[in-house]
Amino acid sequence: MVGAAAALAVARTGRSVKVLEPAPAPSFVPEAPYDLRISAITLDNVSMLQTLTAWSRVEAMRVNPFTELAVTEGQSEWLEFSASDNGSDQPLGYMVENAVLQQALLDTLSEYPNAEIVPAAIAALDASAKTVTLSNDRVIPYEVLLGCDGANSKVRALSGIGVAGNAYHERCLLVNVRTEALLPTRTWQRFQGKVIHALLPLSLHDACLIVYADTPMLKTLTADEQQVAEYMREHFTSTIGPFEVQSFGHFPLKQQHALRYSEPDSRVVLLGDAAHSIHPLAGQGVNLGLRDVHALMTCLDGEFSWARLERKLRQRQLDNLLMGQSLHSVSRIFRSQNPLLQVARRLGLALAQPHSIAKRWVSYYAGARWKG
Ligand SMILES: Cc1cc2nc3c(=O)[nH]c(=O)nc-3n(C[C@H](O)[C@H](O)[C@H](O)COP(=O)(O)OP(=O)(O)OC[C@H]3O[C@@H](n4cnc5c(N)ncnc54)[C@H](O)[C@@H]3O)c2cc1C
Repeated sequence: MVGAAAALAVARTGRSVKVLEPAPAPSFVPEAPYDLRISAITLDNVSMLQTLTAWSRVEAMRVNPFTELAVTEGQSEWLEFSASDNGSDQPLGYMVENAVLQQALLDTLSEYPNAEIVPAAIAALDASAKTVTLSNDRVIPYEVLLGCDGANSKVRALSGIGVAGNAYHERCLLVNVRTEALLPTRTWQRFQGKVIHALLPLSLHDACLIVYADTPMLKTLTADEQQVAEYMREHFTSTIGPFEVQSFGHFPLKQQHALRYSEPDSRVVLLGDAAHSIHPLAGQGVNLGLRDVHALMTCLDGEFSWARLERKLRQRQLDNLLMGQSLHSVSRIFRSQNPLLQVARRLGLALAQPHSIAKRWVSYYAGARWKG
């Protein structure tokens, strides 16, 4: 996703660009079940996708706005944020399937004669010659290599850029369901001791239900399809009524930050999850990656300056580290069994109730009128 967006940002300036994609998402079919990978795209990124002329394609496929965000702990009252808290009549953002966003971006890119989509992986990098060798042995020269190849980035490894971070020993279970009752355009998270439950609304009757929990617990739970359905009914029916499970999958969670986002000698740049992967708790992962693309875009108008791009990337690194660390802290504080932290977080939720600065800040962040 981030790579396709970055390629579009380059292509629209008339420069030549090649996208190396060994595993393109399957084409979108309107009646196909929802993709399990969903992103909550914030308004600043919608605006960038509009500039890249890809957003109308997303809308033509499948997208759902969300206007409210709510958080609670156990059976406490909900702490609610809505777009209107900021005096806005816009939604806070839109739920978009990753496959839909990727296809919209690649379809838009295919309209540029100066862009080529190459169905192969990067296998080797010659930093001094500035060439990459692909999995099909083709050798491609480059001026700037944008490494947007995800959390296990080959480009990052081949460039010798280290990472700092930690695996959470937690997984995230995603369960797409079809509900009998109408779903509000509201996304929510409930902190339940060491487990977090969440909901992303996909349509009036479709939702992605999420469980964040320790790896052993989720591995045992997902060993049996019936068990997953029973667990989800037990924990979600009281909020959304009866539903049918459509599909499910689970993923490991880790927090990881590249030590730097660029390598001046080899002219390598890291964007998206190749540079940073964070706890998905607040749905900010791809949003941070798209903000990296926005930073790149601001350096592409007129003559390209490597020094300017490096400055922009350093700003992005600070923002991404701050967001990663904040989400790490939130996930640890809410999972903690330490009685002092339990009191502190209840107090925190209470203080964030109506009209507080904390509430406005979260709402502002979720809606992200954000400067990249
Ligand atoms: C459970 C879960 C839920 C999430 N929910 C949200 C959410 O609600 N909102 C949000 O913003 N984020 C969310 N995220 C995070 C989000 O999915 C990632 O931040 C996002 O996918 C990163 O996009 P990317 O393009 O940087 O990397 P990826 O999506 O990982 O894409 C990497 C691309 O590189 C390609 N590639 C890999 N190796 C090579 C190679 N050697 N050569 C060439 N190409 C290669 C791959 O085929 C792929 O297309 C979630 C993550 C998880 C795990």
